[in-house]
Amino acid sequence: MTDITIIGAGICGSLIAHRLSKTDLRVLVLEKESDVAEGATGANSAMVHSGHDPKPGTLKCRYNLRGNELYPDLCKELQTAYVPIGAFVAAGSPEEETVLDKLIAQCEERRVPYEVLSGEQARELEPNLADRISKVLSLPSTGIVTPFEVTIAAMEEAMLNGVELKLNYEVKKIERRDDHFLINDEIETKLIVNCAGAHCDDITEMLRESPYHVETRKGEYFVLDHLNGSFVKHVIYPVPSAKGKGVLAVPTVHGNVMLGPNSDFAANRDDDATGDGLDFVRSEISSTMKNIPFNRMIHTFAGLRPHIDLNDFYIREDEQIPDFIHVAGIESPGLTGAPAIAEDVCDNIILPKFEYHRKEDYIRRKAFINMEKMSEEQINELIRKDPSFGRIVCRCEKISEGQIRDVIRRKCGARTIKGVKMRCRPGMGRCQGGFCEPEVLKILAEELHEDVRDIELDRKGSAVLISNAKEEL
Ligand SMILES: Cc1cc2nc3c(=O)[nH]c(=O)nc-3n(C[C@H](O)[C@H](O)[C@H](O)COP(=O)(O)OP(=O)(O)OC[C@H]3O[C@@H](n4cnc5c(N)ncnc54)[C@H](O)[C@@H]3O)c2cc1C
Repeated sequence: MTDITIIGAGICGSLIAHRLSKTDLRVLVLEKESDVAEGATGANSAMVHSGHDPKPGTLKCRYNLRGNELYPDLCKELQTAYVPIGAFVAAGSPEEETVLDKLIAQCEERRVPYEVLSGEQARELEPNLADRISKVLSLPSTGIVTPFEVTIAAMEEAMLNGVELKLNYEVKKIERRDDHFLINDEIETKLIVNCAGAHCDDITEMLRESPYHVETRKGEYFVLDHLNGSFVKHVIYPVPSAKGKGVLAVPTVHGNVMLGPNSDFAANRDDDATGDGLDFVRSEISSTMKNIPFNRMIHTFAGLRPHIDLNDFYIREDEQIPDFIHVAGIESPGLTGAPAIAEDVCDNIILPKFEYHRKEDYIRRKAFINMEKMSEEQINELIRKDPSFGRIVCRCEKISEGQIRDVIRRKCGARTIKGVKMRCRPGMGRCQGGFCEPEVLKILAEELHEDVRDIELDRKGSAVLISNAKEEL
């Protein structure tokens, strides 16, 4: 019997699995999609918020502040990128300045580092800030990460240390037995952690009437090509409104810029199509920015915030069903809060229920091979050892065959074209995979010992090789 089963392999489920993998407990993660980070974690603003704006006294506020503290070390541990880029909250009217003043008071109370700048001072640092901006709250402790990289790395390291991941495994039925649960009539487990994002209430309903109801709020984005700081260097927020943090300009770890998101209730929980929301993003962004290079747009996407009617995160052991743990309603700032959520849920709720030992021979993962960051000498050495690193498959992002093979061969390795793209970036560039996708598919088929003609699409349309798609990793 498994000790702990985690339902959902987003950032929360993966970081909880990662923390538990440091013990000798038996941990299983069940994910309905063909990869990790396929829910909200795969499509968001990628920001580690400073903690300046969540409502006082909420779990969102508590976990945001602690998560911001934990991220730099977590990313060092997982060998993933963390960039302390800093943010500006930009006000351009007396009403907006009043909201900004409230945020400044919150920073003071919460000890969030900040500085107040005039419009002119801010424009010296960010020349494309709109002329109307008169006052700016600068937040140096804001960071950016690549959310799917953190999630994949956490799951890879968890699996290196014995955690089992089942992909393409949808939880459809849970029964409570005397001292354990039975999932889908086949998996026995002592404890369940419900990290199912937009479907948390469906999971709870399998055992009892859910104390919360999930609706998803869609956020749509434009992605601009590599501008490497020439358009914007910090994250730029407008002042927040009842609908959230507003439309942002966010530089990414890889030098692109994201413009978005809007915040509208989605037609259904899984509706992540882009549409009219992009018109809203286009008009709203001009309230904080000017000279916006829309001609450098290479991609659009949408993410879904799992919003619950209680308006806060819902994180606790169920009041009626012992050993059933809710990690629900994890909308923004859930990416930021996730390391703190994992810390609290593991150390204060799960681990006190078990007898366990900490692993002494814990295995660390190695970072993905990033040739962009290597010197010429290091690259030549790599190619000498393995010539496949000398063959460029993705010309836009300059990704070699060797890098693609590496991300497939690892624990929690890529099994789909999108999975390869998320791990090492072929298809993320200007051509959006037009040139390299067939080549990536060929390499995937070779690595997985499949016939390239033998493919089918997964639920989200990312090509999967049939037999391996169903296989446990
Ligand atoms: C537009 C947008 C912008 C955001 N920006 C930020 C930001 O900049 N900073 C920040 O801190 N937060 C941000 N967030 C919030 C953040 O992305 C989420 O809070 C976080 O990713 C939630 O992670 P999770 O693991 O709880 O859920 P998810 O990532 O949604 O994972 C849930 C997983 O459960 C799986 N699942 C569901 N049902 C089942 C089932 N029956 N069986 C098996 N598996 C199942 C799903 O497939 C999914 O993989 C943003 C969110 C959105 C949508």
